[in-house]
Amino acid sequence: MKLCRFDADQLGVVEGDVVRNVTSVLQELPACRYPLPRGDLLIRHLPELRPAIEAALPAAPSIPLADVRLLSPVANPGKIVAAPVNYQKHLQEARDDAEIHHQNQVEEIQRVGLFLKANSSLIGPSQPVVIAHPERRNDHEIELVCIIGKTARNISREQALEHVAGYCLGLDMTTRGPEERSLRKSIDTYTVLGPWLTTADELTDPSAIGMELRVNGELRQHANTRDLIIELPDLIAFASRFYTLEAGDVLFTGTPEGVNRVAPGDIMLASADGLGSMEVRVQ
Ligand code: MN
Repeated sequence: MKLCRFDADQLGVVEGDVVRNVTSVLQELPACRYPLPRGDLLIRHLPELRPAIEAALPAAPSIPLADVRLLSPVANPGKIVAAPVNYQKHLQEARDDAEIHHQNQVEEIQRVGLFLKANSSLIGPSQPVVIAHPERRNDHEIELVCIIGKTARNISREQALEHVAGYCLGLDMTTRGPEERSLRKSIDTYTVLGPWLTTADELTDPSAIGMELRVNGELRQHANTRDLIIELPDLIAFASRFYTLEAGDVLFTGTPEGVNRVAPGDIMLASADGLGSMEVRVQ
């Protein structure tokens, strides 16, 4: 199932080039009062809600996909975890290019671990990436993103994928410079998720997903998740030894080679096998 959030927080199921509006199902989510539970309520309750979504589909109104404004498929992640330099060729390009490494020693992911992006940086594909510091280099980073489906800590690699609700594309937008990653990659609008959540039952093997990113039509990044240094099950296991992973948490798996600058006016087109494609403006 391909679940999207669109327009004014509507819930949709993407079928080909239409969106079926199943927003009425959201009424079945539990009502919450202060203090609100951390994390994404829809993702947490998706297993119970799914039969209701399927039951609503035959009578659900259809809207052309081209006519909806897609928002981040996860509305309220508890946290956004990200893997730095998780492809060998990107590690090499980062070490070779002073404009990327800025005198920081670029270490392997096994040594440097993970980092967090601020939730306030999250947008969906219909919203533009707004360059905050145009005098500096601002880069695109396309990544496979996994959305955690249930709460757990110390997850084994063997059971890791059982904790995944689904997948989507991510853009880990980055201002290059000497500061910590979590500062440079947490600027408002610098985390793009979309175009929708493809549930894990539809994408059972995330270990060989081809993806590409074009800027103004020019191919910039073209890669496959089979080249990940730490593959997804190990990445989930690794993250869960530090953080409790909760339903709705977002995990960026790292970007492949080909990162490069974007500027206001550019159009980024990101696509991946089985996950769809999204066009994102830079402003
Ligand atoms: Mn990244």
